[in-house]
Amino acid sequence: MTMTKNKDMLLIPGPTPVSDEVYDALAGETYAHTDPRFIANYVNALNMTKQMFNCRDGQVFVVCGSGTLAMEMAIVNTVKPGERILVLSHGYFGDRFLQIAKAFGIQADTIQSAWGEHVDLNQVKAKLASTHYKAVTVTHVDTSTGVVANLEQLVPIVKAAGALFILDGVCASAAIEEDMEKAYANNLDYKIDVILTGSQKAIAVPPGLAIVAFGAKALAARAAMETIPAYYADLKMWQPVMENPGKYFATPAVNMINAYEAGMKLVMAEGLSARYARHAKTGKAVRAALAEYGMKALAAEEIAAPTLSCILYPDGVNDTQFRSFLADKGMVVAGSLASLAGKAFRFGHMGNTTPEMLQKAIILIGKALQAQGKEAHIEKATAKFADMMK
Ligand code: PMP
Repeated sequence: MTMTKNKDMLLIPGPTPVSDEVYDALAGETYAHTDPRFIANYVNALNMTKQMFNCRDGQVFVVCGSGTLAMEMAIVNTVKPGERILVLSHGYFGDRFLQIAKAFGIQADTIQSAWGEHVDLNQVKAKLASTHYKAVTVTHVDTSTGVVANLEQLVPIVKAAGALFILDGVCASAAIEEDMEKAYANNLDYKIDVILTGSQKAIAVPPGLAIVAFGAKALAARAAMETIPAYYADLKMWQPVMENPGKYFATPAVNMINAYEAGMKLVMAEGLSARYARHAKTGKAVRAALAEYGMKALAAEEIAAPTLSCILYPDGVNDTQFRSFLADKGMVVAGSLASLAGKAFRFGHMGNTTPEMLQKAIILIGKALQAQGKEAHIEKATAKFADMMK
Protein backbone atom coordinates (compact mmCIF):
# COMPACT_ATOMS: atom_id res chain seq x y z
CA MET A 1 0.00 0.00 0.00
CA THR A 2 1.23 3.50 -0.79
CA MET A 3 -0.09 6.77 0.56
CA THR A 4 1.32 9.83 -1.16
CA LYS A 5 -1.81 11.77 -1.98
CA ASN A 6 -3.14 12.70 1.45
CA LYS A 7 -2.10 16.21 2.44
CA ASP A 8 -3.73 16.10 5.89
CA MET A 9 -3.52 13.43 8.57
CA LEU A 10 -7.21 12.64 8.77
CA LEU A 11 -7.55 11.23 12.26
CA ILE A 12 -11.26 11.80 12.70
CA PRO A 13 -13.78 9.00 13.22
CA GLY A 14 -14.13 8.81 9.44
CA PRO A 15 -13.51 9.34 6.63
CA THR A 16 -9.99 8.06 7.17
CA PRO A 17 -6.73 8.26 5.13
CA VAL A 18 -7.09 6.74 1.67
CA SER A 19 -4.41 4.75 -0.15
CA ASP A 20 -3.15 5.64 -3.62
CA GLU A 21 -4.49 2.35 -4.98
CA VAL A 22 -7.99 3.41 -3.94
CA TYR A 23 -7.60 6.98 -5.24
CA ASP A 24 -6.36 5.59 -8.55
CA ALA A 25 -9.38 3.32 -8.86
CA LEU A 26 -11.65 6.22 -8.01
CA ALA A 27 -10.05 8.43 -10.65
CA GLY A 28 -10.01 5.68 -13.26
CA GLU A 29 -12.18 5.52 -16.35
CA THR A 30 -15.91 5.37 -15.68
CA TYR A 31 -16.96 2.12 -17.31
CA ALA A 32 -20.50 1.34 -18.40
CA HIS A 33 -22.21 -0.40 -15.51
CA THR A 34 -22.74 -3.30 -17.92
CA ASP A 35 -19.04 -3.48 -18.92
CA PRO A 36 -17.58 -6.91 -18.10
CA ARG A 37 -14.58 -5.22 -16.42
CA PHE A 38 -16.90 -3.40 -14.04
CA ILE A 39 -19.06 -6.45 -13.43
CA ALA A 40 -15.93 -8.44 -12.54
CA ASN A 41 -14.92 -5.77 -10.02
CA TYR A 42 -18.39 -5.71 -8.48
CA VAL A 43 -18.47 -9.52 -8.17
CA ASN A 44 -15.03 -9.47 -6.58
CA ALA A 45 -16.03 -6.67 -4.18
CA LEU A 46 -19.14 -8.59 -3.10
CA ASN A 47 -17.17 -11.79 -2.60
CA MET A 48 -14.61 -10.04 -0.42
CA THR A 49 -17.41 -8.41 1.59
CA LYS A 50 -18.91 -11.86 2.15
CA GLN A 51 -15.55 -13.12 3.33
CA MET A 52 -15.05 -10.18 5.66
CA PHE A 53 -18.33 -10.92 7.46
CA ASN A 54 -18.08 -14.69 6.92
CA CYS A 55 -21.58 -14.40 5.45
CA ARG A 56 -21.98 -17.94 4.10
CA ASP A 57 -25.69 -18.61 3.94
CA GLY A 58 -26.86 -15.06 3.41
CA GLN A 59 -26.36 -12.21 1.01
CA VAL A 60 -24.34 -9.01 1.01
CA PHE A 61 -25.52 -5.75 -0.51
CA VAL A 62 -23.23 -2.91 -1.55
CA VAL A 63 -25.09 0.11 -2.86
CA CYS A 64 -24.55 3.82 -3.26
CA GLY A 65 -25.37 5.64 -0.03
CA SER A 66 -23.84 6.16 3.39
CA GLY A 67 -23.89 4.24 6.65
CA THR A 68 -27.26 5.74 7.53
CA LEU A 69 -28.84 4.17 4.44
CA ALA A 70 -27.31 0.87 5.53
CA MET A 71 -28.95 1.33 8.97
CA GLU A 72 -32.27 2.04 7.28
CA MET A 73 -31.94 -0.99 4.99
CA ALA A 74 -31.26 -3.20 8.00
CA ILE A 75 -34.40 -2.03 9.79
CA VAL A 76 -36.99 -1.70 7.03
CA ASN A 77 -36.14 -5.09 5.56
CA THR A 78 -36.55 -6.96 8.82
CA VAL A 79 -39.25 -5.10 10.76
CA LYS A 80 -42.72 -4.05 9.65
CA PRO A 81 -44.45 -0.82 10.67
CA GLY A 82 -46.23 -1.55 13.96
CA GLU A 83 -43.71 -4.20 15.02
CA ARG A 84 -41.25 -3.47 17.79
CA ILE A 85 -37.48 -3.19 18.09
CA LEU A 86 -35.17 -2.72 21.03
CA VAL A 87 -32.29 -0.32 20.59
CA LEU A 88 -29.27 -0.90 22.81
CA SER A 89 -27.51 2.41 22.72
CA HIS A 90 -23.98 3.28 23.78
CA GLY A 91 -24.28 6.83 22.48
CA TYR A 92 -25.33 9.10 19.64
CA PHE A 93 -25.33 6.57 16.82
CA GLY A 94 -27.33 4.04 18.77
CA ASP A 95 -29.99 6.67 19.17
CA ARG A 96 -30.18 7.11 15.38
CA PHE A 97 -31.94 3.75 15.14
CA LEU A 98 -34.78 5.24 17.20
CA GLN A 99 -35.21 8.03 14.70
CA ILE A 100 -35.22 5.58 11.80
CA ALA A 101 -37.84 3.42 13.53
CA LYS A 102 -40.00 6.49 14.15
CA ALA A 103 -39.79 7.52 10.49
CA PHE A 104 -41.21 4.13 9.45
CA GLY A 105 -43.88 3.74 12.12
CA ILE A 106 -41.90 0.99 13.87
CA GLN A 107 -42.31 0.82 17.65
CA ALA A 108 -39.01 1.22 19.44
CA ASP A 109 -37.82 0.94 23.01
CA THR A 110 -34.34 1.70 24.11
CA ILE A 111 -31.88 0.94 26.84
CA GLN A 112 -29.22 3.57 26.98
CA SER A 113 -25.95 3.35 28.82
CA ALA A 114 -24.32 6.29 30.48
CA TRP A 115 -21.93 7.68 27.85
CA GLY A 116 -18.65 5.80 28.08
CA GLU A 117 -20.23 2.69 29.60
CA HIS A 118 -21.97 -0.49 28.49
CA VAL A 119 -25.71 -1.00 28.71
CA ASP A 120 -26.75 -2.90 31.80
CA LEU A 121 -27.16 -6.60 30.93
CA ASN A 122 -29.78 -7.25 33.59
CA GLN A 123 -31.87 -4.44 32.21
CA VAL A 124 -31.53 -5.96 28.72
CA LYS A 125 -32.59 -9.38 30.00
CA ALA A 126 -35.58 -7.92 31.86
CA LYS A 127 -36.74 -5.94 28.84
CA LEU A 128 -36.47 -8.95 26.53
CA ALA A 129 -38.35 -11.11 29.04
CA SER A 130 -41.23 -8.63 29.34
CA THR A 131 -41.76 -7.66 25.70
CA HIS A 132 -41.51 -9.36 22.32
CA TYR A 133 -39.05 -7.67 19.98
CA LYS A 134 -38.63 -8.52 16.33
CA ALA A 135 -35.09 -7.20 16.32
CA VAL A 136 -32.47 -5.71 18.62
CA THR A 137 -29.90 -3.22 17.38
CA VAL A 138 -26.39 -2.86 18.75
CA THR A 139 -23.72 -0.37 17.69
CA HIS A 140 -20.40 -2.24 17.56
CA VAL A 141 -18.37 0.90 18.23
CA ASP A 142 -20.32 3.98 19.07
CA THR A 143 -18.41 6.77 17.39
CA SER A 144 -19.53 9.32 19.96
CA THR A 145 -18.05 7.50 22.94
CA GLY A 146 -15.36 5.09 21.70
CA VAL A 147 -17.05 2.19 23.51
CA VAL A 148 -16.90 -1.26 21.89
CA ALA A 149 -19.97 -3.44 22.46
CA ASN A 150 -19.68 -6.73 24.37
CA LEU A 151 -20.95 -9.07 21.66
CA GLU A 152 -19.95 -12.20 23.60
CA GLN A 153 -22.56 -11.31 26.19
CA LEU A 154 -25.14 -9.49 24.11
CA VAL A 155 -25.59 -11.95 21.23
CA PRO A 156 -26.62 -14.91 23.46
CA ILE A 157 -29.02 -12.76 25.51
CA VAL A 158 -30.72 -11.35 22.42
CA LYS A 159 -30.84 -14.59 20.48
CA ALA A 160 -32.19 -16.53 23.45
CA ALA A 161 -35.16 -14.16 23.31
CA GLY A 162 -35.76 -14.99 19.64
CA ALA A 163 -35.04 -11.53 18.22
CA LEU A 164 -32.93 -10.75 15.17
CA PHE A 165 -29.51 -9.34 16.08
CA ILE A 166 -28.65 -6.27 14.00
CA LEU A 167 -25.09 -4.94 14.34
CA ASP A 168 -24.02 -1.46 13.25
CA GLY A 169 -20.42 -1.96 12.18
CA VAL A 170 -19.87 1.50 10.71
CA CYS A 171 -16.96 2.26 13.04
CA ALA A 172 -15.76 -1.34 13.40
CA SER A 173 -15.96 -3.41 10.19
CA ALA A 174 -12.55 -4.49 8.87
CA ALA A 175 -10.94 -3.58 12.22
CA ILE A 176 -12.79 -5.74 14.76
CA GLU A 177 -14.03 -9.27 14.20
CA GLU A 178 -17.55 -9.45 12.76
CA ASP A 179 -18.29 -13.05 11.92
CA MET A 180 -21.80 -14.14 10.97
CA GLU A 181 -20.93 -17.82 11.32
CA LYS A 182 -19.62 -17.45 14.84
CA ALA A 183 -21.77 -19.43 17.27
CA TYR A 184 -21.77 -17.29 20.40
CA ALA A 185 -21.78 -19.20 23.70
CA ASN A 186 -21.17 -22.27 21.49
CA ASN A 187 -24.81 -22.26 20.46
CA LEU A 188 -25.40 -22.65 16.72
CA ASP A 189 -28.56 -20.53 16.97
CA TYR A 190 -26.73 -17.61 18.52
CA LYS A 191 -25.40 -15.77 15.51
CA ILE A 192 -25.43 -12.20 14.25
CA ASP A 193 -28.24 -11.80 11.69
CA VAL A 194 -27.43 -8.47 10.06
CA ILE A 195 -24.25 -6.40 9.85
CA LEU A 196 -24.29 -2.98 8.29
CA THR A 197 -21.45 -0.61 7.59
CA GLY A 198 -20.10 2.19 5.41
CA SER A 199 -17.03 2.45 3.21
CA GLN A 200 -15.29 5.36 4.92
CA LYS A 201 -13.93 4.16 8.24
CA ALA A 202 -11.77 1.11 8.87
CA ILE A 203 -12.30 -0.09 5.29
CA ALA A 204 -10.49 3.14 4.34
CA VAL A 205 -12.38 3.99 1.16
CA PRO A 206 -14.02 7.42 0.69
CA PRO A 207 -17.59 7.81 1.92
CA GLY A 208 -20.31 6.81 -0.53
CA LEU A 209 -21.25 3.16 -0.09
CA ALA A 210 -23.81 1.49 2.15
CA ILE A 211 -22.80 -2.08 2.89
CA VAL A 212 -25.17 -4.61 4.46
CA ALA A 213 -24.92 -8.34 5.11
CA PHE A 214 -28.09 -10.32 5.74
CA GLY A 215 -27.95 -13.82 7.16
CA ALA A 216 -30.52 -16.48 6.28
CA LYS A 217 -32.94 -15.60 9.09
CA ALA A 218 -32.87 -11.92 8.21
CA LEU A 219 -33.44 -12.69 4.52
CA ALA A 220 -36.38 -14.86 5.56
CA ALA A 221 -37.79 -11.93 7.54
CA ARG A 222 -37.73 -9.79 4.40
CA ALA A 223 -39.25 -12.59 2.32
CA ALA A 224 -42.09 -12.97 4.83
CA MET A 225 -43.12 -9.35 4.32
CA GLU A 226 -45.04 -8.62 1.15
CA THR A 227 -44.31 -4.97 0.66
CA ILE A 228 -42.23 -2.64 2.78
CA PRO A 229 -42.28 1.17 2.99
CA ALA A 230 -39.15 1.53 0.86
CA TYR A 231 -38.15 1.36 -2.78
CA TYR A 232 -34.41 2.06 -3.21
CA ALA A 233 -33.74 0.52 0.21
CA ASP A 234 -35.77 -2.61 -0.52
CA LEU A 235 -33.52 -5.67 -0.63
CA LYS A 236 -35.92 -7.36 -3.07
CA MET A 237 -34.94 -4.77 -5.67
CA TRP A 238 -31.26 -5.41 -5.13
CA GLN A 239 -31.19 -9.17 -4.67
CA PRO A 240 -31.06 -9.98 -8.41
CA VAL A 241 -28.26 -7.42 -8.86
CA MET A 242 -26.20 -8.78 -5.99
CA GLU A 243 -26.57 -12.29 -7.41
CA ASN A 244 -25.58 -11.03 -10.85
CA PRO A 245 -24.14 -7.50 -10.96
CA GLY A 246 -24.71 -7.46 -14.73
CA LYS A 247 -28.39 -6.85 -13.97
CA TYR A 248 -29.82 -3.38 -13.54
CA PHE A 249 -31.95 -1.92 -10.78
CA ALA A 250 -30.42 1.53 -10.23
CA THR A 251 -27.13 2.70 -11.71
CA PRO A 252 -24.32 1.62 -9.41
CA ALA A 253 -21.68 4.17 -8.38
CA VAL A 254 -19.19 2.64 -10.82
CA ASN A 255 -16.07 4.45 -9.61
CA MET A 256 -16.93 3.97 -5.96
CA ILE A 257 -17.38 0.24 -6.49
CA ASN A 258 -14.03 0.12 -8.29
CA ALA A 259 -12.44 2.02 -5.39
CA TYR A 260 -14.11 -0.25 -2.84
CA GLU A 261 -12.84 -3.31 -4.68
CA ALA A 262 -9.30 -1.87 -4.56
CA GLY A 263 -9.70 -1.09 -0.84
CA MET A 264 -11.06 -4.52 0.01
CA LYS A 265 -8.13 -6.14 -1.82
CA LEU A 266 -5.82 -4.32 0.58
CA VAL A 267 -7.91 -5.45 3.56
CA MET A 268 -7.74 -9.05 2.38
CA ALA A 269 -4.02 -8.83 1.55
CA GLU A 270 -3.29 -7.79 5.13
CA GLY A 271 -5.53 -10.60 6.37
CA LEU A 272 -8.50 -10.16 8.69
CA SER A 273 -6.95 -11.55 11.84
CA ALA A 274 -3.73 -9.54 11.34
CA ARG A 275 -5.85 -6.46 10.79
CA TYR A 276 -7.91 -7.06 13.93
CA ALA A 277 -4.75 -7.59 15.98
CA ARG A 278 -3.15 -4.44 14.55
CA HIS A 279 -6.15 -2.33 15.50
CA ALA A 280 -6.40 -3.76 19.01
CA LYS A 281 -2.72 -3.04 19.63
CA THR A 282 -2.88 0.44 18.09
CA GLY A 283 -5.89 1.55 20.15
CA LYS A 284 -4.21 0.49 23.38
CA ALA A 285 -0.90 2.13 22.43
CA VAL A 286 -2.50 5.46 21.50
CA ARG A 287 -4.44 5.66 24.76
CA ALA A 288 -1.41 4.65 26.84
CA ALA A 289 0.70 7.33 25.13
CA LEU A 290 -1.91 10.03 25.74
CA ALA A 291 -2.18 8.93 29.38
CA GLU A 292 1.43 10.12 29.69
CA TYR A 293 0.03 13.60 29.06
CA GLY A 294 -2.57 13.09 31.79
CA MET A 295 -5.29 12.57 29.18
CA LYS A 296 -7.91 9.92 29.85
CA ALA A 297 -10.25 8.14 27.49
CA LEU A 298 -13.96 8.38 28.26
CA ALA A 299 -14.28 4.58 28.11
CA ALA A 300 -12.44 2.31 30.56
CA GLU A 301 -9.62 0.45 28.76
CA GLU A 302 -11.45 -2.94 28.89
CA ILE A 303 -14.30 -1.53 26.81
CA ALA A 304 -12.37 1.05 24.75
CA ALA A 305 -12.50 0.61 20.99
CA PRO A 306 -9.60 -0.46 18.78
CA THR A 307 -10.72 2.03 16.11
CA LEU A 308 -11.40 5.31 17.83
CA SER A 309 -10.85 7.00 21.17
CA CYS A 310 -12.87 9.70 22.81
CA ILE A 311 -10.25 11.57 24.87
CA LEU A 312 -11.21 13.89 27.71
CA TYR A 313 -9.33 17.17 27.96
CA PRO A 314 -7.42 17.88 31.15
CA ASP A 315 -8.91 20.83 33.04
CA GLY A 316 -8.37 24.17 31.39
CA VAL A 317 -7.74 22.99 27.83
CA ASN A 318 -9.74 24.87 25.23
CA ASP A 319 -11.18 22.53 22.59
CA THR A 320 -11.32 25.04 19.72
CA GLN A 321 -7.76 26.24 20.27
CA PHE A 322 -6.50 22.68 20.67
CA ARG A 323 -8.05 21.45 17.43
CA SER A 324 -7.10 24.59 15.46
CA PHE A 325 -3.48 24.20 16.61
CA LEU A 326 -3.50 20.64 15.24
CA ALA A 327 -5.33 21.61 12.06
CA ASP A 328 -2.69 24.26 11.32
CA LYS A 329 -0.10 21.46 11.41
CA GLY A 330 -2.18 19.27 9.09
CA MET A 331 -3.70 16.98 11.70
CA VAL A 332 -7.46 16.74 11.86
CA VAL A 333 -9.27 15.33 14.90
CA ALA A 334 -12.97 15.68 15.68
CA GLY A 335 -14.78 17.48 18.43
CA SER A 336 -17.20 15.64 20.65
CA LEU A 337 -20.95 15.40 20.45
CA ALA A 338 -23.86 16.39 22.68
CA SER A 339 -22.97 16.84 26.35
CA LEU A 340 -19.30 16.08 25.67
CA ALA A 341 -18.89 18.94 23.18
CA GLY A 342 -15.91 21.05 24.23
CA LYS A 343 -14.89 18.53 26.89
CA ALA A 344 -13.32 15.82 24.74
CA PHE A 345 -11.98 15.17 21.25
CA ARG A 346 -12.32 12.09 19.10
CA PHE A 347 -9.23 10.49 17.62
CA GLY A 348 -9.57 7.89 14.89
CA HIS A 349 -6.76 5.32 14.66
CA MET A 350 -8.15 2.94 12.12
CA GLY A 351 -7.85 1.79 8.54
CA ASN A 352 -4.65 2.97 6.92
CA THR A 353 -3.27 4.92 9.87
CA THR A 354 0.37 3.91 10.36
CA PRO A 355 2.53 3.87 13.51
CA GLU A 356 4.60 6.71 11.97
CA MET A 357 1.50 8.82 11.45
CA LEU A 358 0.25 8.16 14.97
CA GLN A 359 3.67 8.85 16.48
CA LYS A 360 3.61 12.23 14.74
CA ALA A 361 0.07 12.81 16.00
CA ILE A 362 1.14 12.11 19.58
CA ILE A 363 3.97 14.63 19.27
CA LEU A 364 1.58 17.26 17.88
CA ILE A 365 -0.93 16.64 20.67
CA GLY A 366 1.88 17.21 23.20
CA LYS A 367 2.73 20.47 21.47
CA ALA A 368 -0.92 21.53 21.39
CA LEU A 369 -1.11 21.00 25.16
CA GLN A 370 2.14 22.92 25.70
CA ALA A 371 0.74 25.78 23.59
CA GLN A 372 -1.99 26.07 26.22
CA GLY A 373 0.50 26.14 29.06
CA LYS A 374 0.10 22.48 30.04
CA GLU A 375 2.93 20.17 30.90
CA ALA A 376 3.41 17.42 28.31
CA HIS A 377 6.33 15.01 28.30
CA ILE A 378 6.50 14.31 24.60
CA GLU A 379 9.46 11.94 24.79
CA LYS A 380 7.77 9.84 27.46
CA ALA A 381 4.57 9.64 25.43
CA THR A 382 6.28 8.69 22.19
CA ALA A 383 8.47 6.14 23.98
CA LYS A 384 5.35 4.59 25.50
CA PHE A 385 3.69 4.41 22.11
CA ALA A 386 6.75 2.88 20.44
CA ASP A 387 7.09 0.35 23.25
CA MET A 388 3.47 -0.75 23.04
CA MET A 389 3.57 -1.04 19.26
CA LYS A 390 6.47 -3.54 19.40
N1 PMP B 1 -23.19 4.35 12.80
C1 PMP B 1 -22.03 4.72 13.34
C2 PMP B 1 -21.47 3.91 14.46
C3 PMP B 1 -21.36 5.83 12.86
O1 PMP B 1 -20.20 6.18 13.38
C4 PMP B 1 -21.91 6.56 11.78
C5 PMP B 1 -21.20 7.75 11.17
N2 PMP B 1 -20.28 8.39 11.93
C6 PMP B 1 -23.12 6.14 11.25
C7 PMP B 1 -23.73 5.03 11.78
C8 PMP B 1 -23.76 6.88 10.13
O2 PMP B 1 -23.02 6.71 8.96
P1 PMP B 1 -22.98 7.79 7.80
O3 PMP B 1 -22.51 9.07 8.39
O4 PMP B 1 -22.02 7.20 6.81
O5 PMP B 1 -24.36 7.91 7.26
